[in-house]
Amino acid sequence: MITLDPETEGVALAASLVDAFSVSGAEGELADAVQAALVRQPHLTVDRDGDAVVARTSTGRPQRVVLAGHLDTVPAAGNFPGRRSAGVLYGLGSCDMKGGVAVALRLAATLTDPARDVTYVFYDGEEIEEQRNGLRRLAEKHRDWLAADLAVLMEPSGATVEAGCQGTLRVVVAATGRRAHSARSWTGVNAIHEVVPVLERLAAYAPRRVDVDGLEYREGLNAVRIAGGVAGNVIPDRCEVTVNYRFAPDRSLDEALAHMREVFDGYAVERVDGAPGARPGLDEPAVAAFVAAVGAAPRPKYGWTDVARFAALGIPAVNFGPGDPEFAHTVDEQVPEEQIVDCERRLRSWLTT
Ligand SMILES: [Zn+2]
Repeated sequence: MITLDPETEGVALAASLVDAFSVSGAEGELADAVQAALVRQPHLTVDRDGDAVVARTSTGRPQRVVLAGHLDTVPAAGNFPGRRSAGVLYGLGSCDMKGGVAVALRLAATLTDPARDVTYVFYDGEEIEEQRNGLRRLAEKHRDWLAADLAVLMEPSGATVEAGCQGTLRVVVAATGRRAHSARSWTGVNAIHEVVPVLERLAAYAPRRVDVDGLEYREGLNAVRIAGGVAGNVIPDRCEVTVNYRFAPDRSLDEALAHMREVFDGYAVERVDGAPGARPGLDEPAVAAFVAAVGAAPRPKYGWTDVARFAALGIPAVNFGPGDPEFAHTVDEQVPEEQIVDCERRLRSWLTT
């Protein structure tokens, strides 16, 4: 059984969270521990759905903000349990995103009378397919639990504000041919050869760099998988290239798909999955006030995060959490201990003034 003391010092709390195994699909024990730690707090109302735990203050303040973090991690890579060394916390999930979860848990337990009402959301299933995302489930089943004027996702962002997020789209680009015996290849059409122009277009593609609300977003268009071939003596009749397009949030998902059809004109383009991005929204008063209060120069988010889901619900959202996102999902995952302390200090002062 996992026990958590959310009133313990932040880095120690983050270390104990890292040592609480919670790969996607196995967050139950950690969710139990989070729930147990929070129901003890008389200033919080605690709800649970599946392995998501939602705790809120209800002091009747004019503004309500969400602080959200996912409890799950990607699979271990020889980096479980964690360890502390020279001011750095190492281990599975340390960066993505138990450092941030520790900050939110500490605030939940210790901010008994915040200047803004706070809803703390700890959820499951973020690191796997979209259908199992706990925040998606909450948005569908308990939309009222998520009501807020601003959401702060505690995803690793180097203790600075990362605003908006890229969209992502995966498509399969397929070439077809005609099967034949390889000894009489002239009677067939080789589908693997037919995808050469697809690869050439990808290699020659110049991804956009676009300014969205004052932040520069870089796009990326890449083949991430290729599949073709029937047998060693058969001219293949089908070859598929899976392409991932990470697009700036000035484009909708539909526009991104239309762009893929344009780039791969002449080929069958089939959508596999996708999620829209979110504009940074720095001109939203709640976002601008947050950025000013935590005193961080905003930068664009490279990657998809649940800020897009909040944006789709009409709630402006930013990423703000400890840890360099480059270490997320890596074997040497790590978070600087001072960033855990720093994020907590800045959020605490914003939430109490
Ligand atoms: Zn994450």
